[in-house]
Amino acid sequence: MRITADRELCCGSGNCVVNAPEVFDQDDTDGLVTLRLQEPPEHLHEPVELAAQLCPVGAISVTRQAATR
Ligand code: SF4
Repeated sequence: MRITADRELCCGSGNCVVNAPEVFDQDDTDGLVTLRLQEPPEHLHEPVELAAQLCPVGAISVTRQAATR
């Protein structure tokens, strides 16, 4: 899984930080989203998907990568 967060779209609502605080944070100065992890481990995928769905402006994009062996 790879995440991108569009700070141009972000309105600083903080929903993503509530849903997945290990992955998302908010900038101390402007309150906009920052990523703590771009490629989160498996156990964080579900909260990240939820955060992407619940972002009010659709600023979070999630790309699923094919499993590599
Ligand atoms: S949920 Fe969306 S709008 Fe709210 S802080 Fe996160 S990225 Fe920004």
